[in-house]
Amino acid sequence: MIDLKQYEVWFVTGSQHLYGPKTLEEVAQHSKEIAAALGASAHIPVKVVFKPVLTTPDAIRSLCLEANSAKNCVGLVTWMHTFSPAKMWIAGLSLLNKPFLHLHTQYGREIPWSTIDMDFMNLNQSAHGDREFGFIGSRMRLDRKVVVGYWGDDETQKEIGIWVRAACAWADAQDMKVARFGDNMRDVAVTEGNKVSAQIRLGYDVYGYGIGDLVKLVNEVSDGEVDKLVQTYMDEYDVVAELKPGGAKNQSLRDGARIEIGLRNFLTAGNFKAFTDTFEDLHGMAQLPGLAVQRLMRDGYGFGGEGDWKTSALVRSMKVMNAGQEGGVSFMEDYTYHFSKTGDKVLGAHMLEICESIAVNKPKLEIHPLGIGGKADPVRLVFDARTGVGVCASIMDMGGRYRLVANVVDVVPTDAPLPKLPVARALWLPRPNLKVAAATWIFAGGAHHTGFSYSVTPEHLRDFAEMAGIEFLLIDENTKVEEFKKELRWNDLYYHLNKGL
Ligand code: MN
Repeated sequence: MIDLKQYEVWFVTGSQHLYGPKTLEEVAQHSKEIAAALGASAHIPVKVVFKPVLTTPDAIRSLCLEANSAKNCVGLVTWMHTFSPAKMWIAGLSLLNKPFLHLHTQYGREIPWSTIDMDFMNLNQSAHGDREFGFIGSRMRLDRKVVVGYWGDDETQKEIGIWVRAACAWADAQDMKVARFGDNMRDVAVTEGNKVSAQIRLGYDVYGYGIGDLVKLVNEVSDGEVDKLVQTYMDEYDVVAELKPGGAKNQSLRDGARIEIGLRNFLTAGNFKAFTDTFEDLHGMAQLPGLAVQRLMRDGYGFGGEGDWKTSALVRSMKVMNAGQEGGVSFMEDYTYHFSKTGDKVLGAHMLEICESIAVNKPKLEIHPLGIGGKADPVRLVFDARTGVGVCASIMDMGGRYRLVANVVDVVPTDAPLPKLPVARALWLPRPNLKVAAATWIFAGGAHHTGFSYSVTPEHLRDFAEMAGIEFLLIDENTKVEEFKKELRWNDLYYHLNKGL
């Protein structure tokens, strides 16, 4: 469902006419070579398009306007092989509304000690040419990524790739339609937020629906379609006997399949990328969607429970950042703690809706009572999450701004089997430890709902936050509570004042 190959970044080289046509030809040749290498890099998931070397303010302005209106262009990678006087860039950068990455590299890896002469020096000027370009970015207070390193190095390409993935998520967010079935869970604060601000700032376009709009499509699903999907379940999962055809609760599985098909049809017809539901508004539904949500998330949809449209959109953005990588992305909630001498742990789960993309084994398809919502028992996939380093991220509306907070966690095996826990789950040690991680998370006002992933990193999220111009806070092995509190206070001031900067 998410195809990053549709996207491209433009490789843009700045120069000037001072050097004459021969040098400019060489600049173009070298830039083409670098663009091709980046395009071929396994770390960079989009097309890298070489653009003709820019030598005048008019050309720069035109390029920026062209980038703004190019639907598939997610951003620019800029590089100054020679010196490009940066007043030439003011008009263009003032108009540019796509993210840009300043690649501070140089064509040759090393100084050719025995042959270096003035011709070489006239051509290979990025060490100072890029500083001139850097100045204008800072002078104009433009958020951008700066990557320093030799362009052929794995590390450099990796950093560019992270930014590219964030830029794809940013592009995807600009027309992200989120469907909300029902409203917010009553009286919950953190899942609320200003939807107009969210659309202005992040692009999220949130549509509310009565659950009846969905029920109508669910009821239209034919028995034949249900038969087919039930067979898919039988093929893909370990289905418990009572749910199998002929089993005592097979009808519940058929109801679950009907919900999945109806929900999928609804989201497809409306071009939605993410959705929410709430157990408080299920009128006309047989059961709370569990399995359906899990499978739709697997296919790239964002999801948030209890009307949480911000987390739903974030999960979708993380799905885009993650596309094509191992690791998975899921909606998640800090559920229960395990205080222990071997490290305090968090059991992450939800009532039902954890994405199978993070499963360590083939999920079991089961049925159990829910205990709330007053509906029939919902079908759901049950599994353990893979072990490894992960990240939990949460987005909140702080009134004057959006805040994205992330915590690096180490997912570990459960201390013992959980034979009676009827939901998918992940157990982790938050970094640096629960004491610090939970205190700082709480001071940050971080939500209980998160987007969780193994392959999306804090760097992806930071790049995304900078593209959006929202606050980003990281809780990791270096976090200290008192320092973090200072950062919160300073950020309050910064985000209050930066409207005037
Ligand atoms: Mn929840």
